[in-house]
Amino acid sequence: MIVLVINAGSSSVKFTCFDMAGGGKPLAGGLIERIGLDDTSMKYTNHKGDVLKSKVAVKDAQEAVKLISDKLVDPQHGVLKSLSEVKAIGHRVVHGGESVTDPVIIDEKVKAIIRDCFSIAPLHNPPNLIGIEACEAVFPGVANVGVFDTAFHATMPAHAYLYGLPYDLYTEHKIRRYGFHGTSHAYVSRQAAALLGAKPEDVKVIVCHLGNGGSISAVSGGKCQDTSMGLTPLEGLIMGTRCGDLDPAIVWNIMKIKGLDANGVDNYLNKKSGLLGLAGIGSSDLRDIEEAHNKGNQQCRQALETYAYRIKKYIGAYMAALGGLDCVAFTAGVGENSATMRELVLKGLDGLGLKLDKAKNDLRSSEPRFVNASDSPIKIAVIPTDEEQEIAGQTYALVK
Ligand code: ADP
Repeated sequence: MIVLVINAGSSSVKFTCFDMAGGGKPLAGGLIERIGLDDTSMKYTNHKGDVLKSKVAVKDAQEAVKLISDKLVDPQHGVLKSLSEVKAIGHRVVHGGESVTDPVIIDEKVKAIIRDCFSIAPLHNPPNLIGIEACEAVFPGVANVGVFDTAFHATMPAHAYLYGLPYDLYTEHKIRRYGFHGTSHAYVSRQAAALLGAKPEDVKVIVCHLGNGGSISAVSGGKCQDTSMGLTPLEGLIMGTRCGDLDPAIVWNIMKIKGLDANGVDNYLNKKSGLLGLAGIGSSDLRDIEEAHNKGNQQCRQALETYAYRIKKYIGAYMAALGGLDCVAFTAGVGENSATMRELVLKGLDGLGLKLDKAKNDLRSSEPRFVNASDSPIKIAVIPTDEEQEIAGQTYALVK
């Protein structure tokens, strides 16, 4: 049984085609990244060993899904004879509010829930839905399954998900912390336990998911205790284009200074802030900012330090929340690939029991691994996330 997983995100669409009958073996996969920018690119690999990289013209998630489907049946590099071999499609969906906490078959009711959450997940739910609707058009009659990012965080205790606001905002309007990247936090925290040679029930892990969007979670006994994103994916860390934590009074100050209404300030904080706004070089890509910093750009240096400092503060806070720690795990685009950023985040944390081994940290690898010094009381891991595998497994379990 072939399951296709589509992860239509804020700046990239990842895809993997799994043969679930063959034990969940990935047949092909890849990503289209920097969508909407001038230098959009596609990477495609298959189980025959083909690795293709090309510049492509893709302006949104819908165009990306079409390109992916063409590639899967490509006479030379494809892995399927016909698109009819695809029996189910698992979609990463970011926000399901409080009503969707498990994987679900997507019907009109579920699409309405996804649409209802547009206002609180403006960067993600719209491309997620475009991805779903593109799949409905390209793969008619195939079951589409939604695997929601909010699900793993459903175990948070009330003291972690409530805000210091009048209680009726929660009871009547569901204003609370939900958390995101749940599929990744679930997968990486389980992998961290495996790397430690322990059961998830027996370990305390902080997962730093640092991609274009970023969030941190505190996981104890395999269950999420707290996470940095909130009602929306805007709270918490400084991200590619999102501001993360702010003094709420800044919101109405910006509205006055820039002459913006509510939608305007929403757009400003979601799309013009974060690394893009701080570094000021017209890019939200950490690679570009690191490169400019290496050429001596001082504003970029400050942006990198500010980004790292926010992560460091969360690690300290979550060590307190968990009352101890076995492992900090770094994952996603930045967490897996930027040794510089990991070093900057962990600088000065030796006294808390987090000692990095610089040589191990600098080694590139796609394997889960420890990068801590041998005498570090707390382990430091780099664990490639595999949201696609997790989504494929949940999709298969639901439709088979
Ligand atoms: P998302 O899924 O949220 O769009 P990803 O997890 O794909 O994001 O991560 C994208 C981010 O990872 C980009 O900002 C990019 O700069 C960063 N990234 C990828 N590779 C590297 C690298 N080698 N060094 C630094 N940053 C990297």
